Amino acid sequence: MQTYINEATSGKRISAKGYAVANKNAKFKPFSFTRHPLGEKDILIEMLFAGICHSDIHQAKSEWADGIYPMVPGHEIAGRVIAVGKNVKKFKVGDYAGVGCMVNSCGACEACKQSKEQFCSKVVFTYNCIDGFHNEEPTYGGYSDNLVVSEDFAITVPKNAPLDKVAPLLCAGITTYSPLKFSKVKSGSRVGVAGFGGLGVMAVKYALKMGAELSVFARNKKKEQDALRLGVKALYTTDKLIEVKERFDLIISTIPTAYEPMDYVRLLDFGGELCIVGLPPTSVMPSLSLSSLVFSAHRKVYGSIIGGIKETQEMLDFSLKHGIYPETEIITAAQIDEAYENLTSGRAKFRYVIDTKKSVF
Ligand code: NDP
Ligand code: ZN
Ligand code: ZN
Repeated sequence: MQTYINEATSGKRISAKGYAVANKNAKFKPFSFTRHPLGEKDILIEMLFAGICHSDIHQAKSEWADGIYPMVPGHEIAGRVIAVGKNVKKFKVGDYAGVGCMVNSCGACEACKQSKEQFCSKVVFTYNCIDGFHNEEPTYGGYSDNLVVSEDFAITVPKNAPLDKVAPLLCAGITTYSPLKFSKVKSGSRVGVAGFGGLGVMAVKYALKMGAELSVFARNKKKEQDALRLGVKALYTTDKLIEVKERFDLIISTIPTAYEPMDYVRLLDFGGELCIVGLPPTSVMPSLSLSSLVFSAHRKVYGSIIGGIKETQEMLDFSLKHGIYPETEIITAAQIDEAYENLTSGRAKFRYVIDTKKSVF
């Protein structure tokens, strides 16, 4: 780490090591690269934990669009600040910081002014993105040993927080917290969660804390006991949706594979909402029938993507205050391929988190 600190403080490019895929069919391999020099408002983070989100798989395998390779995924990041730019106000060396899907944005547009940076046309995603603020170079994510980020895109994490559990909150947490707030979930709200994985379990935990009644939709009953243990009323299997009698105010779909959205719209009460956060590969992307929607009794469908920085800090504070954390399994970077395989074949439970200090890069 001392080399990185020296490079940062002398204004040089910062060396980094990570795990990358060379193309959409490749396995993960160690990869050395450099990050842009530490700017006045930037912090350098020593990586401690990085969650594996299903979006990492979609992108590493070019399932949404052609990826930028070599690709170092990872946007659920928790680490320790080891150097700060001269105008950094929020952090000092030694603090803990979290980083999610974004590392920069313009700061001046309407979206940025409202702290909805995810909608800024110049937003820089943490990886698989061209950084318009740094010579159009590609960004590299959290499956690595450090990260340089604008302090405005780093979330304050208190010293006593369990960092391995904090990392997944930076994407899975905010992506589910945000629509629950947007849809004003409250005591007695009837909420369904479709897809009970890394995001799904967070949606369940937050909605329960907000006082909602919860049901889960899954492809099989493997995680029924987990759902009941958390306080979910029922786990319905997706082969029998037609038999479900319950009606919902809100259903959040975190499904990453092909499915029929109207199957869930039909389960909403009149005026209820289906929020889509899961984004299946383009080759199997579901579509919505407009005629079904027109006849669907004012039921609403909307999409949601992560959340702004202000709301991400709010989510983190809420999670820590109420002890709401993801269900995690810690791995090393050498096990990323195996984790991807498990996540795509139904063998995974909830969230894999890479212990980057225990990984050999
Ligand atoms: P996980 O793989 O952790 O979880 C997905 C879950 O969905 C698994 O439990 C899987 O179960 C289940 N599932 C798969 N297919 C179906 C189906 N047809 N019906 C019901 N359940 C199904 O993924 P994540 O939670 O990390 O991510 C989920 C999706 O959300 C991804 O598409 C991801 O890209 C997207 N995402 C979107 C974000 C946003 O901002 N909008 C942010 C983060 C992620 P099993 O395979 O065991 O049956
Ligand atoms: Zn994610
Ligand atoms: Zn902007």
